[in-house]
Amino acid sequence: MITRMSELFVRTLRDDPADAEVPSHRWLVRAGYIRRAAPGIYTWLPLGYRVLRNVERIVREEMDAIGAQEVHFPALLPREPYEATGRWTEYGPSLFRLKDRKGGDYLLGPTHEEMFALLVKDLYSSYKDLPLSLYQIQTKYRDEARPRAGILRGREFIMKDSYSFDIDDAGLQKSYDLHRGAYIKIFQRLGLEVVIVAAMSGAMGGSASEEFLAVAENGEDTFVRSPGGYAANVEAVRTNPPEPVPFDGAPTAHVEDTPDTPTIESLVSVANQRVPRADRPWQASDTLKNVVVMVKGADGTRTPLAIGIPGDRDVDLKRLAAQLEPAEPEPFTEDDFRAHPRLVKGYIGPAALGESSASKIRYLVDPRVAEGTRWVTGANEPGKHVFDLVAGRDFTPDGTIEAADIREGDPAPDGSGPLQLARGMEMGHVFQLGRKYSEALGLKVLDSNGKLVTVTMGSYGVGVSRAVAAVAEATCDDKGLSWPRQIAPFQVHIVAAGKDEPILLAAQDLARKLDDAGIPVLLDDRKASPGVKFADAEILGMPTVVVVGRSLAEGTIELRDRKSGQRDNIAVDEVFDRLLDAVRGTDSAA
Ligand code: ATP
Ligand code: MG
Repeated sequence: MITRMSELFVRTLRDDPADAEVPSHRWLVRAGYIRRAAPGIYTWLPLGYRVLRNVERIVREEMDAIGAQEVHFPALLPREPYEATGRWTEYGPSLFRLKDRKGGDYLLGPTHEEMFALLVKDLYSSYKDLPLSLYQIQTKYRDEARPRAGILRGREFIMKDSYSFDIDDAGLQKSYDLHRGAYIKIFQRLGLEVVIVAAMSGAMGGSASEEFLAVAENGEDTFVRSPGGYAANVEAVRTNPPEPVPFDGAPTAHVEDTPDTPTIESLVSVANQRVPRADRPWQASDTLKNVVVMVKGADGTRTPLAIGIPGDRDVDLKRLAAQLEPAEPEPFTEDDFRAHPRLVKGYIGPAALGESSASKIRYLVDPRVAEGTRWVTGANEPGKHVFDLVAGRDFTPDGTIEAADIREGDPAPDGSGPLQLARGMEMGHVFQLGRKYSEALGLKVLDSNGKLVTVTMGSYGVGVSRAVAAVAEATCDDKGLSWPRQIAPFQVHIVAAGKDEPILLAAQDLARKLDDAGIPVLLDDRKASPGVKFADAEILGMPTVVVVGRSLAEGTIELRDRKSGQRDNIAVDEVFDRLLDAVRGTDSAA
């Protein structure tokens, strides 16, 4: 079937959508690939849907290739399984919850660990049935706090999620490695430059986890890399604590007047004037800054938390949030300070903090605040700081927390060199879940000795709809979309540039030949002017544009490469072969 522009359900738009933040969003809307139905909820139009199905095809092929089997769950799910694992509440406000007419609780699935575990529990009972990997390509729902950039972060989106079931950890490792390998191939085929980074497992629970980030300036994730090959999502970076320092000879702590020093800069400057050090000037990294936040639990409770970090660093809210998940940090308000009068704003010190202190406020410190380290920090009185306060001697925090920001040049935790910061978009995520879900839901099988053992699980996701946006983002230019062959809606876009009968006939003839050869072809047979058609061809972004126009009289047709912009005049009878060559050697054939 030749698709004709005169009939295709598409309108290209002159203007950017008002809410467009990134080029992919702008072009996908302007080129008539997607249309907003509600915030974070999009309709796929014919061209967009073809791209989406091409991405799905690639994902499906690679999942099938590792022996995973496709199933399809409902999106509307009962509460009970999610209640059993705690996620009905833990998922917090991102979960779409709803009631049926009888008052029963339901949810729209944000991810399906529970359902897959129960399905396998339903049908399997022996180690002989394992290993097993199941997957689906399905619509997911998450009431994202900030739906963004069109389909890049939607509230309804399409994910490929798979789950592996194994009898032991070695089996899980194997299933994990298979998925990891499949993901590498998927993103390679999509033409996305991805970096695999160590990740936090977050609300999902479990242990080892890695993310596949598409390198992109507009990405929401910050990750780090070192020259020696270390790579991690910024949330997952662990700080190596320094060796404990002996403090036998350390002076006793002393409180000093440091008037008007609510900030680290003011403190450092006053300390250098009033309490100068013999060896070198005080610097921000000598100070211990204590930041208080409120931690909002999934059940709505608010508990104060104090975080101690070296004064030259800031608390990174995303890193902090990742540590607290599923609870969330909230700012400590003036009202909160009034409710906790022991906390003197700007001068909070360790003596007022800790579960065993009078305030009972949990106090977690940066790993750099190691035993024996000496600090200048708040004395819990306005205008006063305490000097030479030694960790492990003068105060003992309740534990450590990775909440300080990561800086360009910080050492990689594995010693592989200074860290470099970059941004990316999360395209996929692989988790070794372990037994969290199978335990909660009672997924056990008999092992070879007839003993019941809990199945160990992995969980693996690819953002299928997000991939459409990510590829668009990586390939578009200032004229419009520019699809790689693997997922382009059509391989060839033929523009009949002129009203003469021979032009239209030649264009149609070429379209028919390509169509007969199984090559998806779009024919612009509209009555519009060549200029309008060329502009549309650039916005729509098929990899090859064929212009059948005035030069036909001289026996040539123009081929344009959308990506490079290269134009070649080709003899009419060679055009078909040239197009075959261009299309061949790719795994498209949509
Ligand atoms: P993010 O950190 O971007 O919110 P996530 O870690 O919550 O993603 P996972 O639960 O790991 O997401 O889901 C697997 C994949 O689904 C992600 O790697 C991403 O590609 C995709 N995905 C997640 N949330 C969305 C969304 N709101 N819109 C589109 N794709 C999404
Ligand atoms: Mg993730």
